[in-house]
Amino acid sequence: MRIGIIGAGQLGQMLALAGYPLAQRFLFLDSSADSPGGQVGPIITGAFDDPASLARLAAETDLVTYEFENVPVAALAAVAKSRPCHPPVEALRVSQDRLLEKELFGRLGIPTPAFRAVDSLAELRAAVAAIGLPCVLKTRRLGYDGRGQHYLRRPSDLEAAWKALGGVPLILEGFVDFDREVSIIGARGTRGETRCYPLCGNTHREGILRVTLAPATNARLQKAAERHLRRVMDHFGYAGVLTIEFFVQRGRLVANEMAPRVHNSGHWTIEGAVTSQFENHLRAIMGLPLGETRAVGHSAMVNFIGTLPDRDRVLALPGAHHHDYGKAPRQGRKLGHCTIVARTAAERDRTLRRLLRLLPR
Ligand code: AMP
Repeated sequence: MRIGIIGAGQLGQMLALAGYPLAQRFLFLDSSADSPGGQVGPIITGAFDDPASLARLAAETDLVTYEFENVPVAALAAVAKSRPCHPPVEALRVSQDRLLEKELFGRLGIPTPAFRAVDSLAELRAAVAAIGLPCVLKTRRLGYDGRGQHYLRRPSDLEAAWKALGGVPLILEGFVDFDREVSIIGARGTRGETRCYPLCGNTHREGILRVTLAPATNARLQKAAERHLRRVMDHFGYAGVLTIEFFVQRGRLVANEMAPRVHNSGHWTIEGAVTSQFENHLRAIMGLPLGETRAVGHSAMVNFIGTLPDRDRVLALPGAHHHDYGKAPRQGRKLGHCTIVARTAAERDRTLRRLLRLLPR
């Protein structure tokens, strides 16, 4: 089978790498010919909404998926007319809009921060009065890795935030004074069977994921997170991998956002789980039995952002797996990652401290 992947970033690259042992072949669509996917498969170079490129992708593949959630909905819907397309178009549509996403969570009984849609300065004032300070103003669409966000701490912050973000549809959210951030990743197959990975704990800086620790176990939170994830997947009649990011606030999960795709916080599953999120995504969309999602040890995943550390020193660390996406260095760009797998959490944490010392401060 030949699988089309919209987007040829590192997630697409890792999907293809997981598919080769299953005798799958891949064709990417991306606006840039030198994206990481190009190292492992051909790329149709074109805009994501270019009808000719999309038609070619559909014509030359048996099944289409995507690796990032800013694929235009109309483009995916066009492909879905002639080829099976997973995850479903509707999941993509909802995940692109923070307001629709939070409204869905609310309808499915999944707790979220307080939120309000904001389309004018007057609505911003009313929303701040209703939700209270501190709060976070975000663009409803096209925000990722902390882009398109403004924190409001004092009443005098309103005007500046409006100036910075106003003019596009916005959402105001209550600030969550969380104890930690976690995410759950799971897969649902075409016949409705599901498997969930252990919750992992995520540390962000400047809105970008830096470190993931897995498993981040707590049986009660795991159960609640799996219930929430299954509810969303069942709602969409989903096939593929889905991620939900949560805040943990006073022992309770508060949903932040979802991603209808394989996720950066699941990179640890390549070496740290029985079956990786990438392989399970492929198994799910191809209608194959899903693989076990159990962790095989204690993992830490560290993103390499802006610069790569010395590869040989990383590889010399016990249980370290170095991934270099082959991208040109640029500030704020995810260039690679390392996953450490150890038998115990203490051993993992010791190696993690050594790895972090290899990174520029
Ligand atoms: P997002 O792009 O929504 O995932 O936000 C990026 C990061 O900003 C999150 O991982 C949190 O660390 C922080 N953040 C986003 N929304 C909130 C919120 N309502 N309260 C507190 N922190 C937030």
